[in-house]
Formats: sequence, C-alpha cells, structure tokens
Amino acid sequence: MKKLPLHVKIIIGLILGIIYAFISSAMGWNEFTINWIDPFGTIFIRLLKFIAVPLVLFSIISGVSGLSDVTKLGRLGAKTLGIYLITTVSAVAVGLLLVNMIKPGDYIDNDQRVKNRISYELWVNETTGVKPKDNKDFLSDPKYADVVAEVTNDPDYAAPKTDISDKMAAAEQTKDAPPLQFIVDMVPENIIESIANNKLMLQVIFFAIFFGVTLVLIPQDKAKPVIDFINGANEVFLKMVELVMKAAPFFVFALLAGVIAKMADSPAEVFEIFKGLGSYSITLLIGLAFMIFVFYPLIGVVFIKKLDYKKFFRNISPAQFLAFSTSSSAATLPVTMECVEENMGVSKNIASFVLPVGATVNMDGTSLYQAVAVVFLAQMHMVDLSLAQQLTIVLTATLASIGAAAVPSAGLIMMIIVLQSVGLNPAWIAIIFPVDRILDMCRTVVNVTGDATVATLIASSEGELNKD
Ligand code: ASP
Repeated sequence: MKKLPLHVKIIIGLILGIIYAFISSAMGWNEFTINWIDPFGTIFIRLLKFIAVPLVLFSIISGVSGLSDVTKLGRLGAKTLGIYLITTVSAVAVGLLLVNMIKPGDYIDNDQRVKNRISYELWVNETTGVKPKDNKDFLSDPKYADVVAEVTNDPDYAAPKTDISDKMAAAEQTKDAPPLQFIVDMVPENIIESIANNKLMLQVIFFAIFFGVTLVLIPQDKAKPVIDFINGANEVFLKMVELVMKAAPFFVFALLAGVIAKMADSPAEVFEIFKGLGSYSITLLIGLAFMIFVFYPLIGVVFIKKLDYKKFFRNISPAQFLAFSTSSSAATLPVTMECVEENMGVSKNIASFVLPVGATVNMDGTSLYQAVAVVFLAQMHMVDLSLAQQLTIVLTATLASIGAAAVPSAGLIMMIIVLQSVGLNPAWIAIIFPVDRILDMCRTVVNVTGDATVATLIASSEGELNKD
C-alpha cells in the first residue's frame, strides 16, 4: 500500500466505502455506520475547512506581496473573472443543448405528465397568475376534465411533499438584493467576522489582496518581518494539508460509507430512488462528463501549449476525488491549491489568487446542472419553454451558480431562482432532491476541474507555468 500514489489510495478508499455501504445496508448495520464511521468523514471535512480560510488568507497576501508589479493584479483579476464567466456560460449552453436533445422529461409516463401539467396550471392560477408561455390550456380542455377533477382532489398535488420553505427564504434573500449588493458584499465590515464565517470567503480575498498591496507600498524594512511571518504561516498550513491528505483514503472511505448509509436502508432502495429520475441523472452525467473529458481538455489543447492531458488528470486527481467525496469546492480548496502548485507547476502568485476566487464564483458543474434540471422539470410537467425563456435560464443559471456557496447542496437551493425566473414552481426542487446528493458529488468534480484548468490557462498565458 505504501508505494501506491495518493490518488490510487483515495480511489481504493472510495470504492471500499461504496462496497462497505452496500454491505452495511444489506446487513442492517446502518446505525453502526452512522454512529461510528460517518463522524470520521465529518472530521475530515472540518479539518479541510478550517485550513481553507487561513490558507487563502496567507497565500494571497504572500502571493500579492511577492508580485514585482502590482498593477499586474488588475489585469489578472479582469482576465480571471472574464474566463470564469466564459466557462460558466459555456457549461449552461452545453446543459441546455443536451437536455433539449435527449429530452429526459419525455421518458416519464405520459399520464403522469398530464397530471403534472394540470397541477402546474392549478398552481399558476393560485399563485402568480402568469400563464405558461406555450399557450396550452389543459384545465379548460374537456378531454382532461376527469384528470383535472382527480388532481384537484389529490392532496399530494396541492402541496409539495418536502417542506422547502427554509430553502426558499435563503434563495429569496439573494434574489431580492439590489443590483450592486454583490460588490457591497465583497467588502468586509469586520475582518474577524469574515474570517469566522465560511460563507464570506470573497471578503477574506478582498482583505488579503488589499493587505498584500499595502505591504508592497510601505518601506521594505517594515514590510519584511510581516512578509516573513506570512510566508512561514503559509508553509505551516500547506504542510497541514499534506498531513491531513495522508489519511485521506481512510477519511474518504468513512465519508462515502456515511453518505450512502444515510440515503437508504437497503441497496434496493438506492436503485429505486434513482429509477424514476434515471433519464435526468444520465443526461446530467453525460453533460458533466463532457465538461471533464472534452471541454477542459479542448481548452488545454487549444490554449495551453504542450499540455499533457493525461498528466493533468494525474496531477489534479486527488482534488477531483476529494471534490467527489466531500461535495464541497471550499473544503477541497486546500488540496486543489496544493495539486495545482506542486504537481502542475502553476506559480504561487497565480494559484493563490485564481483558485480561491474560482472556488467561490466559478461553478461550471453547478450551472450546467441547473440548466438540465430546470428544463427536465419543465418537460416532465409538459411545459414547453420558449427560446426567450431558455435564454433567461442562461442568465439566471450563470448568476445562481456564481451566488451558490461552495458547500453541499448549495446549487439545489439557488436553482429556486432559476425556476422562478421562467415562471416554474420552485417547490419542484423537491422532485429531484432524492438524487441530489450523489449528483452534487459529480458536479463538484466539474467545479474543481474548471478552477484548476483556468488557473493553469492563466498561468500559461502569463508565462508562469513551469511545465517541468
Ligand atoms: N457542492 C457544490 C460545490 O461545492 C455546489 C453545488 O451545490 O452545486 O462546488
């Protein structure tokens, strides 16, 4: 076991975790698994999360204060955000194309879809009153009179089965914010508060850049001890990541065993959960796989000269497997930074700036998922979305993915905004909820791979990529 590379050990931990979870469900050990194994997964995520904030803080300050030309920072910032935006919009476009081609919603039983449509029209009448744009009217069609009566009397249709009111409140807050709020939110009010709150990473980034730039502006003899301290502290946190990662294969085992044990009591139940949503899950997985195996390599081939893609995967795979196991770009960030710097040869200046920003705002997997999920939900309710509505999805899915926090299930909550933007019922997120955790694991891999690709691309364009 000792000679195996880390990513192979992590894969083994991952597979053993899945196998164990199925044995645990079959043998009825789930309570034991949840009480005695799952906590180690939680410990792992906590370790990574507590390292992430100081690591981002110290590595950005250290990177910025080491820049020979601070004006370069503005260009770097614009370039980073520009490329992130392009990859996110491309991901939404890929998602929309796929979901319109495959039409996963059409695989749902037709009678069921008619009922879904009627319940949707009832909901429209009861709430916003905005008629669906496709001009179909099932409610007043005599052909469906019986079904309308059936649906109207079915309490299951009147209320969503899962209570989503807390999720609605969270999404609502973002949606109703004034236009410049996102810039206001970047500026810390109290830096201790920003550091203490995992959701305020952008404020920590803002502070770190400001601090780093100011360090360059003060006399060198005053700046030196501070820079030395920061560089030293940065080394400590990097070493911590390395130490924690040594135990990653075991932790990943615990995480996977815990996630599956909490999902279902028996292996048959897991398959049952996926069956009804199979066409949706497969469409989404095709899209995510396309991003990882075609889209990013294509960027590599076209824009990063002489990038060996096999090597790229080998280099960043620990981060990818970790993204899969933790479902959190933020928890994965310390490892993504290590992989990109140590294995890929991206300079510290670039990695320490591009990756933390990416983990917070660049979520290609999440935006693709939102596009696929929203159109799928429309299809299974027999709602045809117009071109204008699909373009609205491009815009809102992009914004919702930028606004999503880098933690498990954040994308699902932000999807409420996308559904509302095209007049669909936000309570529908309850429909895809059962399969969401597993798909979240997959989209987080895309999120992290996207960040690593863009960091490599920017480093290469700035002449800061060491290909050896
Ligand atoms: N879990 C994702 C991430 O951390 C966000 C999402 O829910 O899509 O990147």
